[in-house]
This record gives sequence, C-alpha cells and structure tokens, in this order.
Amino acid sequence: MKIFSKLIIGCVLWLCCSFAWGADGIIRAGVARISITPSLPAWLNGYASREQPANGVLTDIWAKALVVEDAPGSRVVIVTVDLLGLSHDVVMEVARQVDSLYGIKRSQLLLNSSHTHSAPVVWPCLDVIYNLGPEDQAKVSMYVQELTVKLVKVIGMAMGNRAPAKLYTGHGSANFAINRRNAIHPNGPVDHDVPVLKVVSAEDKPLAIVFGYACHNTTLVDNNLLVNGDYAGFAQIELEKAYPGAQAMFLMGCAGDQNPSPRGTAALAEQHGKSLADAVVKVLSGDMHVVRGPIRTAYTKTELPFPAFDPAQYRKEIVSSDKFLQRRARLMLDLYNRGLVPDHRDYPVQAVRFSNDLCILGLSDEVVVDYSLRVKREFAGENIFVAGYSSEVMCYIPSERVLKEGGYEGGENMIYYGWPGPFAGGIEDRVFSAIYRVMKEAGSKAVKSK
Ligand SMILES: [Zn+2]
Repeated sequence: MKIFSKLIIGCVLWLCCSFAWGADGIIRAGVARISITPSLPAWLNGYASREQPANGVLTDIWAKALVVEDAPGSRVVIVTVDLLGLSHDVVMEVARQVDSLYGIKRSQLLLNSSHTHSAPVVWPCLDVIYNLGPEDQAKVSMYVQELTVKLVKVIGMAMGNRAPAKLYTGHGSANFAINRRNAIHPNGPVDHDVPVLKVVSAEDKPLAIVFGYACHNTTLVDNNLLVNGDYAGFAQIELEKAYPGAQAMFLMGCAGDQNPSPRGTAALAEQHGKSLADAVVKVLSGDMHVVRGPIRTAYTKTELPFPAFDPAQYRKEIVSSDKFLQRRARLMLDLYNRGLVPDHRDYPVQAVRFSNDLCILGLSDEVVVDYSLRVKREFAGENIFVAGYSSEVMCYIPSERVLKEGGYEGGENMIYYGWPGPFAGGIEDRVFSAIYRVMKEAGSKAVKSK
C-alpha cells in the first residue's frame, strides 16, 4: 500500500513538472519589434565625410527580438538592429537590465547590428568621426538613451509572446558582395553563404525568418541624407511582404572587407535587398533541416593587445593637416595625460548551439571575412552561422593577413574609431582561442585540441 501511494505521488509530481511552463521539451518562441527611426534632423553614422544631418526617412529602421526557449531558463534572445553598430555602454546596460528583469544571462543575449550607414550615430567616439557641437551631442545622447529603453522593451515584449514553435534551417547564396581590398589583395576572399533560420508556430504559421550575409551594408554612400536600412533593410521588407505575419531579421556576417557591388543609389540598395530576399525565399521553399534543443550558450572576452604606446607619434599627429589624425591625437594625448590609454581591447565572443543542428557564432566588431572562412574550415562538422558585428561594434578586427597587409581594415580605421591601433600581431590566434573556448562550452565536439 505504501509503495502504491508513493507511486501515485511520483506520477502526480511527474505530470506537474511535465506541464509546468516550458518543462515539456517543447520549443517556445516569441517575436517583437520596435521602431528606432530617429526624430529629424539626425546625424547618420559611418561616413566621416558627411557634412550635414539626415533630413528625411526613406524607410523606417527597427530593433527586432526573437526569444527561443527549450526549457525554463534555457534560451537564446536574438536582437537585430538596423544600426551601424551598438556601443559597449549600450550593450552593457541592456544586458544588465534584461538579466535583472527576466534572468537573461549575458551568453543568452545575442545582439547584432546590420551596419547600415544610413542610421543615427550611437557610439561615443564622436570627437574623431564628427566634430559635433553641444546641441547635436545632446541629441545623440538622447537617441542613445531612448534606444537603450527600446531594446529592453522589445526583449520584454518577445518574452511575453512565447508560444510553442518549430525551427528549421538551410543555406542559400547571393553574389553581390565583393572583396573591397582588391587593390591590396587582387581576387581577395568572399563568403557568399546565406544562412537561414525559420521559426514557425505550432500551426506552421511563419513567425520569424532570420537570415545572414557577409557584406558591408553600404550601398548608399556619403551623399545620402535619408534614414534607411540599406540592402539589409530592403531584404527584410521584401521577406515580410512575401510572408505576411513573419518578422524578418538580418544577421550581419564577417563583412569587414566586403562591399556590395555596384553601389551608390537607393535603387541599387533595393536591388541587392531583393536578390538577398530571393536567395532566402529559395531556401524557405526547399527542404530545410529541423532544429532541436537543447540550447547551449557560451560567452567570453579575450584581450587583443595594442603595441606599446608612443606619445611622440601623437605629438606629431596633433599638428597634422589631417583633421581626423589631429582629433585622434588629441584624444590619445588626453588619455595619456590622465593615465588612461588602453593597452588592449576587451573582445567579446559568443556561441549559441541548438543540439548538433545549428550553431550561431557571434563575433564582436567589424570582422573580416577570413574569420568566417577559417571557422567554417575548422568546424566543418557544424551547421554554422558566423555573425560579425555582434554585441558591440567598436573597430575592425583584421585577420593576421589583413593586419600585415595594412590599409583601412588593417589599421587605419583605428583613427576614426579612436583607438591607439593598429593591433599587435597574433590577433587572429587570440580570437580563435576564444572561439575554441565558447564552442567547447556550448557543446561542440568539433573543437580542435588547442
Ligand atoms: Zn564598416
């Protein structure tokens, strides 16, 4: 009799656990979006040669969130934004708030910026890119504050929308990206992969289409003064038209040295957007692979050192006729006088794995394409999306080859980003050590024993 009642109690407990929220092995997903279109006029980011703020809106820009959960607390939150990049401060604050509000751990929060150069300034490195007056700086600060609030809000909305869902993955291809360093490295490498993650409801209604591509989101150039999401924005608009009710989300790949070709007009941005959307539709219309849990996430930071600081270099540059060299030198000497010159960049690396079905590797900053090609070679057994421009976007990350070759991506960009760069040698292996760490922690068996 005692054994019988224990069995009954055991069965009741098992049933309670099974039907508790999310403890039944069913994947749940929730999506939400919020407009981040600025009030006008607004300074757009990315082209230091711009001389006036934006005066109109071609298309709205968005922050979009997707939460996928396979058990209580076992989840990933993917947030994509139509912005050049998020700053370290914004990411830290959003991560802090969503941890305290929803228990979302840093490794579970994957933020990615589309790198459109037709969206507002976000970062604080204004002294080098633009010489904004106090009024414009106050507007930028206000936009950043509002953005932080909206990112936390959209994540909360997606959490509130969680419902049973099914996930599928596949890959396509688009060929408008070219290696933009061809003057330095003729026929330089490209990555034309278009990874796709489809999320549908229990009734097979499309909820989210996450897709990626490795190409600078810079079809529009410095003469454009209209807010828009460039080709990645147009691709999202096309997909949302083709699949009503679905939220299209763009994950930027390792596009540091990749440009769209041809470029220069809104019509071309729309054309590239359409060809990328076509590639995604082709994947969605074909056979896709099921994606299952468990979801495992990992996050780390690695130190990328700068060479020894030489104040004499900046004392020379502060009287240079180049206003950008001058501004960077002023910044560096100011930091030097206060004993605050950084000797390294703290570089975030993140992995999200859905059992052995899908892995998203999130690399921070403007990563060049060599990283995605090497990751795909070294982790050939993984179905992998290699996203650059994840977490924050604070400079370029050259490979060892690009660092040695020099040029804009190799080191000159550090002038505009306000760092004492270029990086010291050994950067690629340092980044890869961090990649091996997060891949192993997220359960990848394909990790080299390094
Ligand atoms: Zn860039």
